Amino acid sequence: MCFSKVYNNRRIHRSLMLTFLLIVLAGIFVSNVFAEGGKCPTCSNTLSYNYGAWTPYSADKTKHIRTITPYCTNCGLTLTSYPSTPESHKYGEKPRIIIEDKSEPSCRGTIIYTCEICDYDLPDSFSESHKRGNTCKFCNTYFPTHEEEAERYIGKSNEDSEEGEGYQDDAEGNEEIADNNLGEGESESGNSEDEYNNGVGAINSAGEENSNSEENLGLSDDELGRGSSENDSSEISIDNSQGYNNDSQINEDESRSRFAEVEDGHENAQEKLAEANSVINENQEEEGQNNESINIENSINESGEAGVPVKYTTGEYVSTSTDLQIDNVDPAISIIRNYKNFNESSFSFGKGWNFNYDTRIIVGIRSDYNNFYESLKLLLSDIELIFTEACSDYEAAMEAALKSKRLAELSVEAAGSAILHAENAKKAAENAKNFGSAAKINAGQAEDYANKAIMHLNNSRESAMNAINLGKTAENYAIEARKFAEKAKQKAESAINSANRAIEHANKTSKQSLKDRANNALERARNLKNRADDKYPAEQGN
Ligand SMILES: [Zn+2]
Ligand SMILES: [Zn+2]
Ligand SMILES: [Zn+2]
Repeated sequence: MCFSKVYNNRRIHRSLMLTFLLIVLAGIFVSNVFAEGGKCPTCSNTLSYNYGAWTPYSADKTKHIRTITPYCTNCGLTLTSYPSTPESHKYGEKPRIIIEDKSEPSCRGTIIYTCEICDYDLPDSFSESHKRGNTCKFCNTYFPTHEEEAERYIGKSNEDSEEGEGYQDDAEGNEEIADNNLGEGESESGNSEDEYNNGVGAINSAGEENSNSEENLGLSDDELGRGSSENDSSEISIDNSQGYNNDSQINEDESRSRFAEVEDGHENAQEKLAEANSVINENQEEEGQNNESINIENSINESGEAGVPVKYTTGEYVSTSTDLQIDNVDPAISIIRNYKNFNESSFSFGKGWNFNYDTRIIVGIRSDYNNFYESLKLLLSDIELIFTEACSDYEAAMEAALKSKRLAELSVEAAGSAILHAENAKKAAENAKNFGSAAKINAGQAEDYANKAIMHLNNSRESAMNAINLGKTAENYAIEARKFAEKAKQKAESAINSANRAIEHANKTSKQSLKDRANNALERARNLKNRADDKYPAEQGN
């Protein structure tokens, strides 16, 4: 070794010397204090000891160790700590077990023993084969016998089957409700469609009635217009009638005044004839002869119809009038005129007139005939003038009378037209009223149809909403049914697995009843599976 070198170094030497000294002192100290009940090196008082916690001893893993520190309660001196004597670990009754792998036939893991004093863990791996009918001391698991296993799996299978059957019942119940809801929904949908069609029909009918109403209103308006026009025509006709009537009146008045003048003319003529009469009286002798011949002629020419001076009826105008009757002479003188408008002959009164003294007077038979003739001729000329005027007045009167008659006829005609127009106006007004009533009825029907349409469409909407709700309800029930069916299927599959395992275990026993019960459990589970599959067939890949 290099001991000589150490010695050659003075500093090291000094350190070594100190170390030695310490060792020596420690030896002295230990001899005094290591054994408990030692004395304080200062005051010789009996020492007390502090003990540290036990800790695993690194030099020997089967042991633990602690430090001991002596001190003096008298002088307060604390001495250097020293290690205790190592002692063996003290393991408890229940080691910790960590299972790292566990199957029915075995388990494997780590068992840890812990020192109750220093908490030192002593790990140890283990592997344990399980035995049927025993509980494993490591995993504390009971490994059942085949009979027990068979019983357990039968129980589990039947339990799953029962639960699955419940789910299947629920699935079928929900499906039935869903089907019912779907049926009701379809019915409501049908109702909705029917009501919709009814509504559309009612709308169309309302539209038709509206058109009819409008058409009738139009016709009513037309009739009102026609009535108004007819009314105007009637008023015009009335005015015309009034006008014609007035004109007729004027003409009638003129006719009357003309006839009055004719009367005046007659009076004048009478006067002149009176004069003529006096002339004739003066010539009495000739008179007799003349009178005789005149009277004969007169009786031939006399029309014999003396009467109303004016007759303006239709047809040929015939008028006869006695203009002069002189009864106070013998024989009496009468001047009679006779007018026929169809008579083409012309006499002293003009065309169409006859006069009882005409021409005969011209024939003279006495000696002073010239004077008589001249005076009588003057008188007759006056009379002729008077009668010519009278005739002219007469014709004017006649013309006015005829005009009055025509105007009166026109007035009547216009009045008739007014009545006709008024009747037309009345008819048109009645038609307008009827068309208006029809329009009102149509409008009322249109409104009724519109109300029906609204009702039907509301019904349609309600039914549609019902159908939707029923459909949703059906869908919810169907979803529930599917969920239940899925659960039923899962339970059936689980039950089948359990039953198969039960059969496996039962087959390893000699108990026939156990085997039978396991097979029954399998059959029950399969029946459930079939029911579930019927409703909801397994999807592809399952
Ligand atoms: Zn002391
Ligand atoms: Zn220990
Ligand atoms: Zn075990």
